Amino acid sequence: MSKIALVTGANKGIGRGAAEQLAALGMSVLIGARDPRRGEEAAEALRAEGGDVHAVTLDVTDPTTVREAAKQIEEQFGHLDVLINNAGITGSGQVSPQDAFDQVPSTVELEMVRAVFDTNVFGVIAVTNAMLPLLRRSPAPRIVNVSSHGGSLTLTSDPDGPFAALLPSAAYVPSKAALNALTVQYANELRKDGFLVNAVAPGFVDTDSNNHTGFLTVAEGAAVLVRLATLDADSPTAGFFSEDGPVPW
Ligand code: NDP
Repeated sequence: MSKIALVTGANKGIGRGAAEQLAALGMSVLIGARDPRRGEEAAEALRAEGGDVHAVTLDVTDPTTVREAAKQIEEQFGHLDVLINNAGITGSGQVSPQDAFDQVPSTVELEMVRAVFDTNVFGVIAVTNAMLPLLRRSPAPRIVNVSSHGGSLTLTSDPDGPFAALLPSAAYVPSKAALNALTVQYANELRKDGFLVNAVAPGFVDTDSNNHTGFLTVAEGAAVLVRLATLDADSPTAGFFSEDGPVPW
């Protein structure tokens, strides 16, 4: 029987790229999308390429859709092998220089921080906990949390490194650092149950989230998600990886 993978925020961008690659590997892939129409369109396009791909309505900030998605997956597939927590926002969703200025720590509005953490951190906890009973039925459960090099305290605290030159952020950057911390805590709790739980940094990828200023293709960015989602037993857990190897915390 083919493995079942759920990718959140998979109607576009890196998540969709990961869904495409997992389907090409023969997995049954569930496209989590907060907008049912956008989810179905993405699933249909990937089915046209020959993949076994289905849309699941899932807004990671809406407990009702999270619960309903878990119920739907249980009824249709009975279990889950892979969860990729990919859905994320960089700010208000306006994708403009103003969005970055609005995250400067000394002037940030708490509403901005709350909105970003709601999706990038609390949404991951909600989805993971809803899917854990289904993942526990897998012989080799894998969880991949899509973080960012910006979530690395080592990289961002280096005054001579490239990250020090970026506009300081009290929302997106700390949300990914919190996601990294969560990754380690889930990995530690679930290690004894055979789970591998890792965080990934896809690199700077050409998507809507950065107004297409990224230099990697979606396929290149998605590769590390897929690699960590398909790890063999005896592979790392509680790690943080890019395609170039381990990323310092
Ligand atoms: P996109 O904006 O292209 O895609 C983001 C996806 O997340 C969309 O499908 C979006 O849905 C979905 N999403 C947002 N909020 C929610 C929600 N509440 N519930 C469900 N889905 C939601 O971004 P990317 O592909 O670039 O980003 C994917 C991940 O990669 C994010 O976690 C991001 O932080 C991370 N990342 C990206 C980098 C890059 O260079 N692109 C670099 C480092 C990390 P909708 O279409 O409805 O908006």
